[in-house]
Amino acid sequence: PILKVAIMGLGSYATRVAKAMEDCQRAKLVGLISGTPSKIEEWSKKYDIPEKNCYNYENFDAIKDNPDIDAVYVITPNGLHKDQSIRVAKAGKHVISEKPMGINAAEGQAMVDACKAANVKLLIGYRMHFEPKTVAVIQMRKDGEFGQPKFFQGQSGFTIGDPNQWRLDKKLAGGGAMMDIGIYSINGARYMLGEEPIWVTAQETKTNPEKFKEGVDETIQFQMGFPSGAVANCLSTYNMNNLDRFYMTGDGGWVEMQPSTGYGPIEGRTHKGPLTQPHVTHQTLQMDGMAELIFEGKQPIVPVNGEEGVKDMKIIDAIYKAVKTGGKIEL
Ligand code: NAD
Repeated sequence: PILKVAIMGLGSYATRVAKAMEDCQRAKLVGLISGTPSKIEEWSKKYDIPEKNCYNYENFDAIKDNPDIDAVYVITPNGLHKDQSIRVAKAGKHVISEKPMGINAAEGQAMVDACKAANVKLLIGYRMHFEPKTVAVIQMRKDGEFGQPKFFQGQSGFTIGDPNQWRLDKKLAGGGAMMDIGIYSINGARYMLGEEPIWVTAQETKTNPEKFKEGVDETIQFQMGFPSGAVANCLSTYNMNNLDRFYMTGDGGWVEMQPSTGYGPIEGRTHKGPLTQPHVTHQTLQMDGMAELIFEGKQPIVPVNGEEGVKDMKIIDAIYKAVKTGGKIEL
């Protein structure tokens, strides 16, 4: 079957996802949820979406009576994901939530619990888990081609513009660069090394407290330790452009990727030579992969489920705690 998807929140990333879904084999955009009637009008024309599949933030619970929609993809500001996802679950529809799944681990766990109770799937928009070069590197690591992984370095950042956007509003964003872009280095460390961290340390640098208010991080350097003894050293920032690089070395080989998580093409090489897997629009692969996961239970190389999201949120909670206390936080 085809996964029939409604998108909630018709902003810039939703625009990218909708366009990518035009090339999907297994997923189709069939519904819209927005607070802006002019966007509903424009999008429904563009994507040929019937009025009966269009909702706003007040009435979308009625989606439970709409058999034409299987799943809702929540692409709104981070601070809204939890409540919106739980409402979708209660309407009996599968939930795809953008990253970060919420603004802390407790929110993430509440989403996992609500989806379990409603017997619907909860998936997080981890598009890199479907990206061919990333998948190839993870497979190489699983096959032991890097030997024992020892060290990961992740650098994730860009220079953020407009000081009035929701990404710099603690309530809607849940934090700053860490929630938005630093999460790629956290998630990357986990899938590149193939382990879960047992401790974190972190240091914050804030050069512009006017723009980056209390609770909104500008730049955080953080370190993670893993059970094998492997370590990760990462940088998350809203104050350096085009920072998008992963490096991992083991006792049998190494890989570097730059760009490592941008929309693509991803580029990289290992001790064996360049990564040559073809570039396909990430969100196209992601949505086809999520359809296979929902209908056939086919798992991607690393999970994209709610539990996976909670793991990242727990690490983010610990990083913020480490910044505050200056100490080493055990996970
Ligand atoms: P955006 O500002 O472009 O879009 C957000 C949308 O939410 C807008 O259409 C806005 O109207 C709507 N919205 C609904 N209620 C709102 C409210 N109370 N306040 C503000 N806006 C409200 O943002 P975006 O870049 O599309 O990001 C949306 C989500 O997608 C975020 O969680 C972000 O982390 C995630 N994202 C993921 C990726 C990825 O590669 N996976 C890339 C970009 C963004």
